[in-house]
Amino acid sequence: MTLLVGEILARATRGRPLLKDDLVRLLEISDETEYQALFQAAYEVKREHVGPVVYFRGLIEISNICQKDCLYCGIRKSNQKVPRFRLSVDDIVEAARWAHTNRYGSLVLQGGEIQDDKHTQFITETLQQLHAATGGELAVTLSLGEQSRDVLRRWHQAGAHRYLLRLETSRQDLYRQYHPEDHLWAPRLQCLEDLRTEGYQVGTGVMIGLPGQTCEDLADDLLYIRDLDVDMIGMGPFIPHGDTPLAHHLPTYDKAAHLNLGLKMLACARLVLPDANMAATTALQALSDTGREMGLIAGANIVMPNVTDPKHRRAYQLYDGKPSLDENSEQSRLGLEKRISSIGESIGYGLWGNSPRFDKRVS
Ligand code: SAH
Repeated sequence: MTLLVGEILARATRGRPLLKDDLVRLLEISDETEYQALFQAAYEVKREHVGPVVYFRGLIEISNICQKDCLYCGIRKSNQKVPRFRLSVDDIVEAARWAHTNRYGSLVLQGGEIQDDKHTQFITETLQQLHAATGGELAVTLSLGEQSRDVLRRWHQAGAHRYLLRLETSRQDLYRQYHPEDHLWAPRLQCLEDLRTEGYQVGTGVMIGLPGQTCEDLADDLLYIRDLDVDMIGMGPFIPHGDTPLAHHLPTYDKAAHLNLGLKMLACARLVLPDANMAATTALQALSDTGREMGLIAGANIVMPNVTDPKHRRAYQLYDGKPSLDENSEQSRLGLEKRISSIGESIGYGLWGNSPRFDKRVS
């Protein structure tokens, strides 16, 4: 029996759980009317659960030095072509001050994965100085890869509130295919559990449209993320980077198809976890100028404008075609403001913007 999109969406908007077959059907949509119906339903659920408010997270790309060698990522250890950099504590504090002055309620510090004492200490000191400089008024998210429970505890004590760590895929054989042998899936999952135990607001997600990944896999990913019961979702389309092994596995890359699939995943994620925070990621913008706004209409409620000094942005390229390489933070804020008001939403200036899901969990 073919499942009817209208019936699936009616169930979802009434708060009934979706099954794997329902999600596969939604992810396989190719008809324009069905496509619009999916976004409309996701948008309705978003307005009901998180409201028409977009929260900014000022993104600071702190370093592209990485111990890992993920086959898809432009800053992988073996990529000799990329000049490596690490911001100083002062650089980071300055970017944080800018975000604070411009009433961003929250920051994300993202970078390559380094597991050593010097790095742990560097991040600890950065967190302490950043809070001292901004009166402790900013919520801080880290996205620094897998770390031991002890390190996560130290960073939490130094003022990190949230952590993003994507599982990349819930299909373990696919994970193995796109990572060197010593990069294991189970410890990554353990790290997500440790983050929760240590009191972080936890975010995860997957890459969408990896070669070999099917709509069944993506539906499994969504159900897996739902069962992990995370507070935040960060996921975006896979985009090849020319200096990585994975780029050469793909004869062609269909930008429009990846954008569409990415947007359908966001919409389905909103239906599956109505009260989580969900980012319209930069990868969407890399595929279309208005990709992030499309993400907001498909159910996302978070945007992460880059507040890193443009002179460092070029070296932090996870994939080809990274947008806004030369735009300064002020230009990017003004551009986003216009685009967000054009879709009838407002910006939650000065607010931390916890997900309602997290607030319910701790109340
Ligand atoms: N090193 C940290 C954070 C930086 S990478 C970590 O591992 O969490 C952040 C995310 O960028 C990754 O989780 C991955 O999902 C995404 N990414 C990396 N390469 C990509 C590519 N080629 N296309 C799309 N997303 C990519």
